[in-house]
Amino acid sequence: MTSTSVARASANRYRMYISGEWVDSEKEERIEVVNPTTERVIASVPKASREQTKEALEAAEKAQPKWEDLAPIQRASFLLKAAQLIRRDKERLAKILTAEQGKPLFEARAEIDGAASNFEYYHGFARRIEGDVLPSDNPRQTIMILKLPIGVVASITPWNFPSATVARKLAPALITGNTVVTKPSSNTPLSTIEMVKLMEEAGFPKGVVNVVTGSGSEVGEELVTNKITGLVTMTGSTEAGRAIMEHSSNHLPKLILELGGKAPFIVWHDADIPWALKCAIWARFWNCGQTCICSERMYVDEKIKDKFVPEFVRMAKNLRIGDPLQPGTDLGPMVSREERQTSMNFIEKAEEEGDKVIIGGDRPPSRDKGWFLEPTIIGGVKQQSPLVQDEIFGPVVPILEVESFDKAIDYANDSKYGLASYVFTKDSTRVLKAMNRIKFGESYINQVGPEQLQGAHTGFRQSGLGAEGSKYGLECYTQLKTCYVDWNDKPSLSYLFPYRDK
Ligand code: NAP
Repeated sequence: MTSTSVARASANRYRMYISGEWVDSEKEERIEVVNPTTERVIASVPKASREQTKEALEAAEKAQPKWEDLAPIQRASFLLKAAQLIRRDKERLAKILTAEQGKPLFEARAEIDGAASNFEYYHGFARRIEGDVLPSDNPRQTIMILKLPIGVVASITPWNFPSATVARKLAPALITGNTVVTKPSSNTPLSTIEMVKLMEEAGFPKGVVNVVTGSGSEVGEELVTNKITGLVTMTGSTEAGRAIMEHSSNHLPKLILELGGKAPFIVWHDADIPWALKCAIWARFWNCGQTCICSERMYVDEKIKDKFVPEFVRMAKNLRIGDPLQPGTDLGPMVSREERQTSMNFIEKAEEEGDKVIIGGDRPPSRDKGWFLEPTIIGGVKQQSPLVQDEIFGPVVPILEVESFDKAIDYANDSKYGLASYVFTKDSTRVLKAMNRIKFGESYINQVGPEQLQGAHTGFRQSGLGAEGSKYGLECYTQLKTCYVDWNDKPSLSYLFPYRDK
């Protein structure tokens, strides 16, 4: 992504959607969107000013009371229509997603399905935004807990799943009666804008959904610090999550933060080894290693290392890396030059420290253009190495050998992150131990992700706050209100002070 005052990309000039209108940047500045396979500019989007971001928030604020006034089932009909349109345009959307992000087309298609499923799933909650009715301590009173909308939601999304992450925020926010301003990553804004176009076609009233494009430091910061915002829901790095927490402290909006991960992948001698190998490949190299729940450090039972590691290396070598639009491609390029360089820095540092790059570590010989990086496996790594402690958002994985299952669990938990974890064993005691002792928001036991809609996607430690997906995720988009309702014919305060002298 680069920014210019006059866009070079004359074709595909995308616009932002504010209060039901498609608008350009008032600063007349645009952000170029680059295809990571070809390194070519494929489109440009406006660089919103702070003033325009504010206008989008004001539009959402104005639209909110009427949107809240609709019955949830009425709001749900818009969500269902959006899902139908996304499915109708699946192939077109998948190609746009691959063009701006670089994932293989088969993965892009699955992501578009996932985006539609989010709208369908939350549409189904229309009759299930349930509160509570509770007995009161006082006669002839009822206590009711309601779940009310928060108001205006600012949604901020990353580039690795630009369709699914935005759908996962818009659907629960909208069904619960909130209105939204959404800001995609500057690397991959097209998928969000295309989705919002379909939401316009689905008939969402003006102002209910708005999209602004621009950097996190300007547009994102305005969304976070503006007092109109009642909830910030952001998916991205832990660093950006921390900045959002600091900047939002002026007015304390509610926060949902889905942040970085460093998933451990434990494989024990009693596992179904061929299956564990297949899963290990998918869990690390899916989306070119750019998935928050990707396996990022492998702990292999010492007893099977001589069998497991060479086979894992052989399978990784066989992955087909190339044009993501071509059938048969397993890995496309990384999303940007900067992200590729960050992964390269990890590899170079590891080599300096004497770790062994078993395979990979470079550009595949067949690709002279694009931000490609070979699947890279590094051995001889220590638990305290940055390769094990820091998030590597690319196709690079360190392998450690471990002598006991308890030690593997200790190593897994020795992390500032706590999003996803993987365990492969057929022993039921080990399974239960892993479920209870691995302190991560998700454990995939004898299987891999992605997470499902009905599961709560949530991070321990610095992997985040709140949840997405499931009924628990839905609740994060509401605020609780307790009502004490008196139905006494002769109301009296006597119940307050039962021991007072008459
Ligand atoms: P990122 O750099 O943190 O950016 C995420 C979004 O936040 C972008 O739209 C970015 O805008 C915006 N942003 C950055 N700084 C901001 C600030 N100070 N205030 C407001 N907004 C700000 O993350 P990324 O590189 O796009 O995505 C990769 C990261 O996302 C990884 O760490 C990954 O683990 C994490 N992730 C987590 C989950 C999860 O569910 N836990 C899922 C997917 C990804 P610009 O980039 O346009 O400036």
